[in-house]
Amino acid sequence: MSRVIAITNQKGGVGKTTSAVNLAAGLAQAEQRVLLIDLDPQGNATMGSGVDKQELGRSIYHLLLGHAELADVRISTEHGYDVLPANRELGGAEVELIELERRELRLREALLPVRNEYDFILIDCPPALNMLTVNGLAAADGVIIPMQCEYYALEGLTDLVNTMRRVRMALNPKIEIDGLLRTLYDPRSTLAQQVVAQLAQHFGDKVFNTVIPRNIRLAEAPSFGRPIFSYDKSSRGAQAYRELADELIARFGK
Ligand code: ADP
Ligand code: MG
Repeated sequence: MSRVIAITNQKGGVGKTTSAVNLAAGLAQAEQRVLLIDLDPQGNATMGSGVDKQELGRSIYHLLLGHAELADVRISTEHGYDVLPANRELGGAEVELIELERRELRLREALLPVRNEYDFILIDCPPALNMLTVNGLAAADGVIIPMQCEYYALEGLTDLVNTMRRVRMALNPKIEIDGLLRTLYDPRSTLAQQVVAQLAQHFGDKVFNTVIPRNIRLAEAPSFGRPIFSYDKSSRGAQAYRELADELIARFGK
């Protein structure tokens, strides 16, 4: 059975998509079977995986609304993992889902038939605590929370934890925090060091050992539609995501 992990934080720009794409690729390199789900209408995880979001026939939008089968939406990427792609059409699902029964469970139910085909299913959530994110949380066994090590990093975390608590009570009793991931880390910043200390204090061993450094190669790779490993595999960014993949495999992999 796969581990389904939602990568979530309602703040934008904290490295959710970068982590989703590069973790998917890192896990795939380590011979894990991986499905990456783009749950953000911006479609950045789709583009970052080398799939053109403008050219999609069917997308995750159709799957959530019951207008397509998973097999019609799924695309095999050249990076060793599969993707359920998204584009701006997904923005409409927010409203259209309200009309439907079991609207919070659409993703969870759509994934049931393929859970045995993968070791890891990663969900790149949008920067909001909306119905799409709730679908992601309801489908997940665990969450990874990327956090930029800057002032206000912890702000908003209470809202996320409260949302998780509601999801746990109403939809998905077993969801847990798999880990907080420090991203965009600059070791020269004393503030970043303070935030790291704060995180350790509040969350202890829920913080991943791996730290993702600020690394220009990670920011460049998506414009070529590539994960870091097929863009610059010797970069510090690649090394960090390889380490993170190993941490996850040690815990959940086969
Ligand atoms: P989110 O999905 O949380 O909004 P992204 O992963 O899209 O965040 O990252 C926001 C921006 O920061 C993007 O331009 C991305 O390329 C860049 N970025 C993310 N992580 C890093 C990193 N470790 N080093 C350098 N740039 C990064
Ligand atoms: Mg994103």
